[in-house]
Amino acid sequence: MIFAEVIVDISVKSLDRPFQYRVPEELKDDVVIGTLVVIPFGKGNREMKGYVIGLSDTPQYDINRTKSILRVEKQGVVAESHLLSLAYWIKENYGSTMNDAIKAVMPVRREIKEKVERSIFPKVSYEELQAARNQFEQKHNAARVRLLDAILQKEDAWENGLDYDEAVKKWKVTGSVIQSLTERELITVAARQLYRNPVTGKTGQSAAKILNRQQQAIVDAIGQDMEQGCSKNYLIHGVTGSGKTEVYMSLIEKVLRQGKQAIVLIPEIALTFQNVNRFYARFGDKVSIMHSKLSSGERYDQFTRAKRGEIQIMIGPRSALFTPFANLGLIIIDEEHESSYQSDNPPKYHAREVAIQRAKMLHASVVLGSATPSLEAYYRCQTGEYQLFTLTERAGQAILPEVTIVDLRQELAAKNFSIFSRILQEKIEQRLQKREQIMLFINRRGYAGFVSCRQCGEVIRCENCSVSMKPHEYRGQISVLKCHYCGAQKPMPKTCPSCGSKYIGTFGLGTQQVEDMVRKRFPQARVLRMDADTTAAKEGHEKILKEFANHQADILVGTQMIVKGHDFENVTLVGALAADLSLNADDYRSSERTFQLLAQAAGRAGRGQKKGEVIFQTYQPEHYSIQCAAKEDYVSFYHQELAVRQMLHYPPISNILEVLAFSENQAEAVQLSEDLRRLVEGMEDIILLGPADAPIAKLRNLYRRRLFIKAKKYQTLCDVKNRMEAFMKDNETYKNCRITFDFNR
Ligand code: ADP
Ligand code: ZN
Ligand code: ZN
Repeated sequence: MIFAEVIVDISVKSLDRPFQYRVPEELKDDVVIGTLVVIPFGKGNREMKGYVIGLSDTPQYDINRTKSILRVEKQGVVAESHLLSLAYWIKENYGSTMNDAIKAVMPVRREIKEKVERSIFPKVSYEELQAARNQFEQKHNAARVRLLDAILQKEDAWENGLDYDEAVKKWKVTGSVIQSLTERELITVAARQLYRNPVTGKTGQSAAKILNRQQQAIVDAIGQDMEQGCSKNYLIHGVTGSGKTEVYMSLIEKVLRQGKQAIVLIPEIALTFQNVNRFYARFGDKVSIMHSKLSSGERYDQFTRAKRGEIQIMIGPRSALFTPFANLGLIIIDEEHESSYQSDNPPKYHAREVAIQRAKMLHASVVLGSATPSLEAYYRCQTGEYQLFTLTERAGQAILPEVTIVDLRQELAAKNFSIFSRILQEKIEQRLQKREQIMLFINRRGYAGFVSCRQCGEVIRCENCSVSMKPHEYRGQISVLKCHYCGAQKPMPKTCPSCGSKYIGTFGLGTQQVEDMVRKRFPQARVLRMDADTTAAKEGHEKILKEFANHQADILVGTQMIVKGHDFENVTLVGALAADLSLNADDYRSSERTFQLLAQAAGRAGRGQKKGEVIFQTYQPEHYSIQCAAKEDYVSFYHQELAVRQMLHYPPISNILEVLAFSENQAEAVQLSEDLRRLVEGMEDIILLGPADAPIAKLRNLYRRRLFIKAKKYQTLCDVKNRMEAFMKDNETYKNCRITFDFNR
């Protein structure tokens, strides 16, 4: 006998748990995870719909009292049912409740009602309505009189109607009054759903560019697979400006011709007018966009339009992945290496993996694109899971810029204590004279403070984990250095362990600080700053970028956000002021992130006719991240970094699971993290690190402890997760604690 776990109606909170039903013999083949079924519910056995989220052969209750599924609901649930199985897959693979997983794939389903504009229209002539009004007055039906007066006084009531909400609020009539007049056929209520379409007035049909040989080869190869009904995963590794977007658009055209739809994921930060406008120009109102500044109602409308087949292309960040298209043919993930594709909240899923899973369910294709692919994606090309394509040249006229690496240790030796090296100062002056523009950025990404030597560049690292150790202050003095992976500690050295210099200490730099120093050093320049502070306002981003594009400033100072995906013709100099900041972040991806940022930054210079120049300032000029980024040599970077990952058992060779334990009570958090460790200790093929305090050891009154588990196989880590989940379930001791999982971040 088979039993199904059914989530009854996900819009009602109290029913937000699965109920078990028996699967009748004749429905055995039709009921799978994700199927929408009709079940008898509650005491009255009211017929309700519900989703099957699990199947098993063990009853939870008395079999004789377990009710049976009545039938399978077939209509209009295709999209939802597979999204539901996707939610189940997400729950299993990333660790979360089923509810959180459902919320992730159907983000707007529960809270938001469709915004409906209703209007009241008269159904009879002016005279007839007047006569009816007079009758109601004689019967002292004040409310009815008020409503009819409102209509009679409104000149265009016969064309445009009277707003329903206005009738209720301003004229104080109730729904039942409106209803009674409707029944007497005096008025009618017309509903019109408002589509809050964020794309307005953009219906151009700009022609496709003639693809170059390399671009065409990719489109032909993938196009052929699609025509043959063969759906695969592809990675396009194309240098910055090599025309990946043109390739995406040609592929989308093919998909549309097959009567299918496409999703294009773009990192939120790159969702600029400039970028998205190319899609509107090509595909007009077939396109819609999704972004975090849309209201939930607007998002809901976007999903509804997709479901009804009114749009064919959805562009947006991570969450756009779940657009319920009826016949999805292609998912594109641009800048696939971006960390924003990984969710920060449970379920902490990765859009790349989920896209591939969703595509697999629907026989759709996935195209990943990047100038600096994630190690994961490139590795999977090597193992044959993805097919690799490369674009080696810039598409237009532009040529790759010239990159200079500046050794900051030598600046110190030459008594230059400024944050600008001598060569950078010189080049900035030159650009200002020629009225060309400059971008200066600090890659603070993941920066959490580290200790280094300004004389030789040595950084204090953990011997076990190879990440930088983070200084901990005590009474304003750095007393101890800690590793945030394994918890190892070291006293703060007085002199550099490598060269003996006393120029050892923390190293930090803020954008505000840089802006001040730029103004002081180059008083003639107009300066703009872009960071989390200056972009907090709505449109903050766009406004600053527009001003810079219009040459209302000469120098743009900012965090890594300024280097991503923006195209400025007049920028001929890009400077990375402190390439080491991100290189020494306390996380195993710091070399990869630094390479990506620097390579992307280099790609910003010389996008137009003028040749660009790039300067990397660093204390570690010999580091392969910096060397390879300067040459935009991804493959060489990949091989060196992969060797490091292999040696220390990090992804993509191995897998790593981060378990966070939370409690309001510090001792309890510590105890729980140690119990969790004991729980999995001795499991085969795992490496345990920690527990230790999380980098943010206390947040919103919760103490946070962290434990890492490495394993060759992903499934081993799922087993670890399942064991911990089972341990936490109904655990009295830790009933006030919570744990979360994060795979391969
Ligand atoms: P990527 O997405 O790889 O950074 P884009 O698609 O943005 O590259 O292309 C970079 C520039 O080259 C854009 O201005 C684009 O219009 C132009 N471009 C791309 N493909 C071609 C082509 N086949 N012929 C002419 N210009 C092209
Ligand atoms: Zn030193
Ligand atoms: Zn360590």
